[in-house]
Amino acid sequence: MAERTERLGVLGGTFDPVHVGHVVAAVNARDALHLDRVLVVVAGDPWQKRDRVVGSASDRLALVEAAFSGVDGVEASSIEVDRDAPSVTADTLEALTAPERELFLILGADAVANMSTWKRLDDTRSLATVVVIERDGEHAEPPGAGWRVEHLPIPRLDVSSTDIRDRLGDGRPIDGLVPPVVVQSIRERGLYTDAR
Ligand code: ATP
Ligand code: MG
Repeated sequence: MAERTERLGVLGGTFDPVHVGHVVAAVNARDALHLDRVLVVVAGDPWQKRDRVVGSASDRLALVEAAFSGVDGVEASSIEVDRDAPSVTADTLEALTAPERELFLILGADAVANMSTWKRLDDTRSLATVVVIERDGEHAEPPGAGWRVEHLPIPRLDVSSTDIRDRLGDGRPIDGLVPPVVVQSIRERGLYTDAR
């Protein structure tokens, strides 16, 4: 008997570090689109941010693992960290392609606005449905025609990895902006203390 098709979400990013905005995006995409699982894919070598990335791939991955360890149906993926090459979304989606599996690429509206710079953009189109996370009336469409797109409004949380690094750099608190277990892990690992 044929298995039911698995609906698999992919939330990629630098996660430098992971924060509550990422958690809200992942769980709401899973719920609204009835995804069986969401993989949070940590970029091993985010080539567009090479000059700005602060945390090592293994630290960023460990924080994502901690952030989602108690979250049902959402898990960290090391697929891009393990690959010894610049992180390209189409490569990752191709590696995750399987019979009886449908892929959903979850992206913030800011990430969608940047898609025209992506490598292998045309291949990306045929590999997954794009789920555009829209905060507070934001709207974005992937460039060009022929995309399968879903738009998902979520509550706006004005938190970014950049702000968290700045706060840690000047000793301001980050509680509430990242899950408590991530606060603890950042402290234990001594990360981002001189991030600027
Ligand atoms: P930076 O400040 O370095 O740009 P970031 O906070 O945007 O980091 P990324 O790792 O670049 O984090 O984001 C990964 C994905 O999460 C992207 O698709 C991005 O649009 C989305 N995202 C980022 N911040 C939020 C947020 N506050 N709420 C929902 N989604 C978010
Ligand atoms: Mg960003």
